[in-house]
Amino acid sequence: MDDELILLNPGPAGTSKRVRDALLRGDMCHREPEFTSLLNRIRENLPHGLGLGDTHESIVVTGSGTAAMEMAVIGSVRAGRSALMVNNGVYGERMVKVAAAHGISVHEVAGSWNQPIDPEAVCAELAAHDDVDAVVCVQHETTTGLMNPVAELGALVAKTAAVFVVDATSSLAIEDPQPAGISADIICGSASKGLHGFPGVAFLLCSAKGLARIEAAPPRSVYLSPAAYLAPQRKGEVPFTPAVQILYALDEALAELAETGGPSARIQLYRERAALVRAQFTRVGLSTLVDERHRSNSVTLLRLPLGVSYKALHAQLRHRGYVSYAAQGKLAADFFRICTLGEIPWHRLEELEDALAASISAAR
Ligand SMILES: *Cc1c(COP(=O)(O)O)cnc(C)c1O
Repeated sequence: MDDELILLNPGPAGTSKRVRDALLRGDMCHREPEFTSLLNRIRENLPHGLGLGDTHESIVVTGSGTAAMEMAVIGSVRAGRSALMVNNGVYGERMVKVAAAHGISVHEVAGSWNQPIDPEAVCAELAAHDDVDAVVCVQHETTTGLMNPVAELGALVAKTAAVFVVDATSSLAIEDPQPAGISADIICGSASKGLHGFPGVAFLLCSAKGLARIEAAPPRSVYLSPAAYLAPQRKGEVPFTPAVQILYALDEALAELAETGGPSARIQLYRERAALVRAQFTRVGLSTLVDERHRSNSVTLLRLPLGVSYKALHAQLRHRGYVSYAAQGKLAADFFRICTLGEIPWHRLEELEDALAASISAAR
């Protein structure tokens, strides 16, 4: 793996040899009993492996993480009701767009991109409307590396009839609090971030309240209505052709996660990586946007040094064996991102400092 390009992007994650090898388990028809075993094991290991026990049931879909976001929005709002959405980054914005695409009305709580949303603001908006069926929040805004207070929001929403939808795609097995510490009814995740699987499979983790809402929501999409998956998956079946090989890899990735100490050990690894690379960023003179108290363990949004374009810096870093990631939206011109997600040999992180310093000089 030493000579390989190290991916410092927020997904897809670099994978282990073990997970890559699982892709080669062979051909399989999804209408045969072997597939039922595979699906049952994954559906069981997702909530259990992420520390949820039997409080949540999973729904697995073939698609990128956005498929899970869309399923969650479609499945959480009954006809004629609305969603209350936190929007303080690109993924919150995407949630609003998903609702708009399905004609679901939205009350938006917009916030600054470098501040966690204020639970009081959500509380006030919730009190101002009596048609809210779902409160939707992104736990870790991958846009900026900003953490939102989902545990506090979950406690608020639990007192109401609304379901709490959390996009935890970039926080499962990466950030605290983990799902067991959040009163969430529908949690969105994908195989290719903290689980260290491949892109192509996403999932929901649903509480009893979340499942009841999914069954009460109208069928807004043929492919993405979660109710279309729930009944077949409970029988070990899928409504559409799944990405079988990506599921093999997810199966292996979940086994690997459990064998390496589960989410708490992985979160600790992410913390240690963040401490290592953030000390390097400071030494090479790179500044950040989000205050230390609100930052995730994986994404750091860094200001481009004076006179250095993202394109030039990316090319220099890539030449030295690292793939950096552009900033999104209004931040794209002045910032870039480094994300220490997935399988990365520790020494390659140690060597990042010299690569960064040399790349910045060369890009000027
Ligand atoms: C990566 C990510 C997603 C899913 O993105 P896809 O490109 O569709 O896989 C959703 N939400 C958050 C917060 C993410 O970081």
